[in-house]
Amino acid sequence: MSQAKSYAAKSATTPLVPFSFERRALRENDVNIDILYCGVCHSDIHVAESDWGPSEYPVVPGHEIIGRVTEIGNKVSKYKVGDLVGVGCMVDSCQTCSSCKQDLEQYCDNGMLGTYGARDVIDGSLNYGGYSDHIVVREEFVLSIPEALDASKAAPLLCAGITTYSPLRHYGVKAGDKVGVLGMGGLGHMGVKFAKALGAEVTIFTRSESKISEAKKQGADHVIVSTDDAQMQAAAMNFDFLLDTIPVQHDLNPYLNCLKVDGMHILVGLIEPMEPAVHAANLVLKRRILTGSLIGGIAETQEVLDFCAEHNIECDAEMINIQDINQAYQRMKKGDVKYRFIIDMKSLKE
Ligand code: NDP
Ligand code: ZN
Repeated sequence: MSQAKSYAAKSATTPLVPFSFERRALRENDVNIDILYCGVCHSDIHVAESDWGPSEYPVVPGHEIIGRVTEIGNKVSKYKVGDLVGVGCMVDSCQTCSSCKQDLEQYCDNGMLGTYGARDVIDGSLNYGGYSDHIVVREEFVLSIPEALDASKAAPLLCAGITTYSPLRHYGVKAGDKVGVLGMGGLGHMGVKFAKALGAEVTIFTRSESKISEAKKQGADHVIVSTDDAQMQAAAMNFDFLLDTIPVQHDLNPYLNCLKVDGMHILVGLIEPMEPAVHAANLVLKRRILTGSLIGGIAETQEVLDFCAEHNIECDAEMINIQDINQAYQRMKKGDVKYRFIIDMKSLKE
């Protein structure tokens, strides 16, 4: 066992505070990682604040983790001490079901284990995420960070990156397709970069007029201000794909109306319940498809890291100290982040 420092939410309504706990002793296939950086995902806020039903507290969020290997179990073969590695949204799955065998651990038939707020299958303990100084993870769920990536900006690829890359690849977005990205936050800004890299013509749907010039700098070809009905109506029947990253309840109908025949609305934003209702006519009359997508498998997460290294794709991030995490949450709730906060974990050690 090793003593860990962290920041935790102790309830849904109180700010994150310093919290110490024990990490498990290394199992034979475990890697111990000294955490350098951790991205701040909107899912962290959802879990800290029990948006998805009651969370088990304390919650130590954080699933965009970059760090160095400091110790390995005696059966670890993929990593050695000193390697630069990453951990994303999952830390375990059964490895034997049909989903796991197809490298789709995120859809494990027996349930994958999230990086925090879940109970370890072997010892039943509540697990804690990356807003901490170190983490112990079985090697199958550890990623290798390519040399060509800037380690201080790579953390968001482990969730925001893979979550947007995976559906664009899976559903076959290709050169010339018209792709709309809904919400210009952590996931949205990566969605724009990947859709552009795949050759699509990309439009950002944002509530924030102030993000228009930024959006163009990100590579977006067009921007639609989603609160402007005239702009939304002018976009009717225009898109092949919409990638929806909005983290709160919203009316899908005006967006569905923007899709061509056979167009696809892909939900990645996780909101419950889904209200207001989708009008059947918005799907039926144009054979449109409404679907969703959860992160990506481990092999595909390695693929996105390598893809970004090869195509010089970087996240746009604002570095913060852990002591500023509560303020960062407030800013994210207002959509005031360009476009991901990354915690410099040195600040936890000071
Ligand atoms: P961010 O907060 O970084 O970005 C969300 C963006 O959505 C904002 O920047 C804003 O863009 C827009 N938005 C925010 N509030 C509203 C609102 N009230 N109405 C309309 N638009 C709004 O969040 P993330 O990108 O980190 O996460 C987005 C969602 O994706 C979350 O629900 C998260 O839990 C989920 N998620 C899902 C995963 C999966 O596997 N499917 C994995 C990771 C996250 P703008 O200002 O441009 O309008
Ligand atoms: Zn996330």
